[in-house]
Amino acid sequence: MKAVAQATGRQLDKIKAEAQEKGDLGLVAESSRGNQRTMFTPPKLTVPGVFNKLKEIAKMSGNAAMNKKIDIIKGLFVACRHSEARYIARALGGKLRIGLAELSVLSAIAQAVSLTPPGQSFPDGILDASKGMSTDAKKSWIEENALILKQTYCELPNYDLVIPALLKYGIKELPQHCKLTPGVPLKPMLAHPTKGVGEVLKRFEEAAFTCEYKYDGERAQIHILENGEVHVYSRNQENNTTKYPDIIARIPQVKKDTVKSCIFDSEAVAWDPQKKQIQPFQVLTTRKRKDVEASDIKVQVCVYAFDMLYLNGESLVTEPFSKRRQLLRESFTEVEGQFMFATYMDTANTDEISEFLDQSIKDSCEGLMVKTLEQNATYEIAKRSHNWLKLKKDYLEGVGDTLDLVVIGGYLGKGKRTGIYGGFLLASYDEESEEYQTICKIGTGFTDEDLENHHSFLKDHVIDSPRSYYRWDSSAEPDHWFEPVQVWEVKCADLSISPVHKAAIGMVEDERGISLRFPRFLRIRDDKKPEEATNSFQVADLYKKQQQIQNVSSTTEKEDDDFY
Ligand code: ATP
Repeated sequence: MKAVAQATGRQLDKIKAEAQEKGDLGLVAESSRGNQRTMFTPPKLTVPGVFNKLKEIAKMSGNAAMNKKIDIIKGLFVACRHSEARYIARALGGKLRIGLAELSVLSAIAQAVSLTPPGQSFPDGILDASKGMSTDAKKSWIEENALILKQTYCELPNYDLVIPALLKYGIKELPQHCKLTPGVPLKPMLAHPTKGVGEVLKRFEEAAFTCEYKYDGERAQIHILENGEVHVYSRNQENNTTKYPDIIARIPQVKKDTVKSCIFDSEAVAWDPQKKQIQPFQVLTTRKRKDVEASDIKVQVCVYAFDMLYLNGESLVTEPFSKRRQLLRESFTEVEGQFMFATYMDTANTDEISEFLDQSIKDSCEGLMVKTLEQNATYEIAKRSHNWLKLKKDYLEGVGDTLDLVVIGGYLGKGKRTGIYGGFLLASYDEESEEYQTICKIGTGFTDEDLENHHSFLKDHVIDSPRSYYRWDSSAEPDHWFEPVQVWEVKCADLSISPVHKAAIGMVEDERGISLRFPRFLRIRDDKKPEEATNSFQVADLYKKQQQIQNVSSTTEKEDDDFY
């Protein structure tokens, strides 16, 4: 808003008021243009020019960053013609669209480079390399290429590095040129929920597996660079390095001299140094998120390392877990309360697993992660693989897993909850249609403090009308609609077909969606973006699994692995 005001010579108050009224800063920026004459006409904007400026803005940090950012934005606005200002303002505000479905982009790129291989001369090159193939052959050929691209992108999620290599070497050779690199966070391996020890044994059959404690903290992918720098990344590839100066400082002490560079996977867990025990996840959330000074730290964390992905120049993601675990254990030394290896037990005995599960809960963990050791035991990042299964105590009675849902509406509270929201409308995300589909109303699980916090956060995200990409039914219309900005983790008793809600509509039944019964709020998921909420496929999957268990039908077939 400041930049629009400065670029157009209008008053900030006026811009604010008009943005409030129109509900779109883009329209305000567009109509404010032309109020001020410039001495020289700035050159026309170009796509690469604007893109470079946006990147410059993204990279800025430090004291004067705000003003420098405003200067760049001002420069852009002054050069805008026609409706350009509208889209630049929306792009900067993150309002241009609801968020890019990464999967669609990767598939599109794969299709483009498959059909029209890069590096050809124009106009004699091949435009459609699939000529002569049958429809099925073409489809599976493109899918095969798309998987190469997705896998590469998961190891090196950076278009600036992947696209030039793709253009230079083509898709088949891409993996040789784009590899895991310390300093570039990779997508984390994820796990499948299971409903009990029986399902674990059925899934893994004869394969050797191990059970590890599932620590309840925050995922920390730790990179040690050759120059000695240490970086910490979140589940979302965000750089958490400045959040954990304490972790950074202790790495040189726990790392053995043989380690020159490495990437390992761990969970940072709140730790009580007096009582020498793990503290609940909620304690960890009270820690400051950025630019933490080591001397100000009140909540101590212990790092529980559980996987090794890269060591001294070699990627380990295609090695079996048994080897990765061994290398991890050889590369570090444990220090209580600071750096520990995840507690594990290698067993296939049902009773032992159950006991170990109970023990993990007593030791303040969420349950177990069960992982294959030898066969099918690579670090899978391009899809949610079945090589890791999570076994949480809660699952045993309820649904297979908690759900992560986006809050899109609020109902004004009554009685004790007057003046704040008393209930909320939640939605899952449909990747295919890029829609948020309602899944339930929720009013339980909140402390008074939660409700206060939700109200003070969400009131700033109220919108006049629902977004066109919300799918909902008028019988569940909330008093206020919100922008899709926050993800909540929610537990429920079960899932049912709903006459009202729209989640996974068309997947189980053509006209009706799925809803949650007795949903309870657990916590905010700051590490998930709205588009990373539980998706329709997962909702349908949870529903089907529950039906299978109710029908006690045997489930020998495996569901498809899903890319995230
Ligand atoms: P989802 O994408 O299914 O929502 P999530 O982020 O909610 O996944 P969980 O269901 O809690 O995650 O389970 C996986 C997470 O558990 C990992 O991302 C990691 O942070 C944590 N974790 C704790 N201990 C371990 C362990 N021993 N091995 C792997 N992950 C562990």
